[in-house]
Parts: sequence; C-alpha cells; structure tokens
Amino acid sequence: MELSFILNELGEERENYFNAVSPPIIQSSNFTFNTVTDLRQAMADEFDTNLYSRGQNPTLSILRKKLAALDGADDALVFSSGIGAISVPLLALLKSGDHIVAVENPYSWTIKLFKEFLPKFGINTTFIDGTVYDNFETAVIPQTRLIFLESPNTFSYELQDIKKIAKFARSRGIVTMIDNSYCSPIYQQPISMGIDLVAQSATKYIGGHSDVVAGVLTGSRELIRQIFDHEFMNLGPAISPHSAWLLLRGLRTLPLRLQRSFESTGVITKWLQAHEHIQQLIWPFSESFKQTQLAHEQMQGCGGLFSFSLKNSSFKKIEAFCNNLQHILLAVSWGGHESLILPSIASISEQEYTATDERLQLIRMYVGLEDTGYLIQDLQQALAKI
Ligand SMILES: *Cc1c(COP(=O)(O)O)cnc(C)c1O
Repeated sequence: MELSFILNELGEERENYFNAVSPPIIQSSNFTFNTVTDLRQAMADEFDTNLYSRGQNPTLSILRKKLAALDGADDALVFSSGIGAISVPLLALLKSGDHIVAVENPYSWTIKLFKEFLPKFGINTTFIDGTVYDNFETAVIPQTRLIFLESPNTFSYELQDIKKIAKFARSRGIVTMIDNSYCSPIYQQPISMGIDLVAQSATKYIGGHSDVVAGVLTGSRELIRQIFDHEFMNLGPAISPHSAWLLLRGLRTLPLRLQRSFESTGVITKWLQAHEHIQQLIWPFSESFKQTQLAHEQMQGCGGLFSFSLKNSSFKKIEAFCNNLQHILLAVSWGGHESLILPSIASISEQEYTATDERLQLIRMYVGLEDTGYLIQDLQQALAKI
C-alpha cells in the first residue's frame, strides 16, 4: 500500500461525517443499540465493534487501520503508553515458567519490566549482546517462548540482525518482538523481516509534537486479537479519543518530520565528529559506526537520536556542557519538534560515576526540526565554555 494513501485516505469514511477532511473526535465512552440482538452481537465481538471505548472507538479505528498498514501488519492495538505496548503483550503471551531472551541495554523501563516485574510472575529473562547472532542460539532453552529485540537500542544504538534472528526463532516456534521506536515504520519494517510483534512508543515520532503519550503494537490478526480479548481489555491501557486524534494528526507529517530530523542529524553529527572536544560519536548512519553494513541493509534511514562523549570526560564537565546549552532543551524523551539533550549521568549520583565506564560518559542528543545552523551555534558556544 502506498504511504501517501495510508496517511491521507486509509480508514477515513468522510461521507459519514459531513465530508470533513479532519476526522471527528468521537468523545464518547459508550455506544447505543436499537435491539437486544444488536447489543448481544456487539458484546460478543468487542474487537471489531464500537461498544465501549475501553475497547474500540471510531476515532481510534481510523488510527488503528493506518498504523497496521504502516507496519505492513494485519492489525494494530493502540496503548496509553509505549511501555504499555511492550508489557501488556508479554503478560498476554507468557506464563509462569516461561523464559525470554532479550538484548542487553534496552529502554530503561523495559529493563525494569524484565528484571523486576516479570520475575514476580515466574517469568525470567536472559540478557545477551545482540550484536552477535550466535548469542541468541546459545541463550535459548526449552522454556524460551519469546525473543525481545530493540534495534537500534537505546543510548548506544547496537543493531541486531533482524532477519536472521526471526528465521531462527520461527524454526523453534519462539515468538519474536521488537521495539521499533527508533526507526518508526518509515525507516524499518520488522514484519517484512519475519518479526511477529512490533511495538513502538507513539509518544516519539508518531505523535511528534511532545503533547501525547501513547504506544502501538502490530502483528498478525490472531496474535493481536488474543492480546486484545484478554489482557488488553483486563488491564485497560486504552487511549482517549482525543489522544487518538492527536496521533492521526501527527501521522500526516510523519515522513516529512523524520526526513528533516535524519538530514539534520547527518549534518550535526559530522560537525561534532570534527570538533576537538568530542571523543566518540555513535549514530547508525555515521561512517565510524561499527555495524554500518547491517544498518544500511535493514534500515532505510536513521532517526535523529545519537550519542557522543567529551574528551577528558568527567562528571562535572558533562554537567557543565549540558547546563551551558541555551536552546537545546535538557529533558528525557525525544521525537518531537524540539531538540533535546540527555546525559547518561542524569540517572546516577557523582559517587556512582566511574571514568572507565564508557556508557556513563554518553550524552544523548535528539535533533528536532530547528535549523541546523541554530543548533550548531548552541553546541559550539556550550563546548567553547568547557
Ligand atoms: C520512550 C521509549 C519507550 C517508552 O515509551 P512511552 O511512550 O514513554 O511509554 C519505549 N522504548 C523506547 C526505545 C523509547 O524511546
């Protein structure tokens, strides 16, 4: 299906709402029926009917169709956060005694899910270096039910060979799931590479304006329906019709914003890499990236997130650099219009800092939609002062 069709037309039944170009926000929790027979039918199939907005809602249905098509999947579920789109399917598909193989260093709350939350239910995880394919084969045990990927991963952007891992998992009857937030479906399509479930934080690129928290899960109709019928309806992570509408609005400009962020990041990373104060820089589409061949094989473009470290780095120096920035905002999250900075040391105290741990030296930058000249000027003055 063509991208332009998905973003502009798919799922929109304009004749049903006065031919309005922008769909209405059906801000209703509840839907009414003429006969008991109709009501009974709706209650028997909440997956495909507007009965109650914890399940479906007409504004959400438009979004659901577009998100599924963007991923090349049968169907989609939308959650009230990205982490909801990761944790709910795991609770739906796994039971006590099951085992997960996951990449090390995924998104922070994903780590907490695997290390603290799932063990309470008897579900344990083996973390591996996902850059080495053989590690997956070695880590799998008879109880392994799920392989969890995040490619590129958070902060250090290591990639996993998605096709190869998906093929191996299928041969063993193991479900595969990936966090595709970094690339979004515009730059990476894991379903076409054999992955079963694709999660992403819609708070990031899909929302795109730092004004909504949401998550997306796509996959086969069978898997999505199984997750919906039980854990989704029980745990209640539905988004509001208004949030669904904000995501629809975000989708209209998704490719444009991503392209802008990608191109600007190319310029800014080149500038930084040539700067005398910069030690290392990690971005999957930079020439110095360790897995550049795999990046170009499985990604059509690259997001605007990268990390770098300062020469002769120290806790105080990293703090000074970040505090010196005047336009690039100091904050978590990413994917909006505004450029952001997040030093790894924001999650530790000075006593916990060790100069030998390269991960702690990393400073993550997200490149938004501002002019590159404006951003480079800000980086330049902040670097000049340290
Ligand atoms: C932000 C993020 C999440 C979590 O999404 P929320 O919408 O904040 O719940 C998950 N994975 C990655 C890679 C993220 O960056």
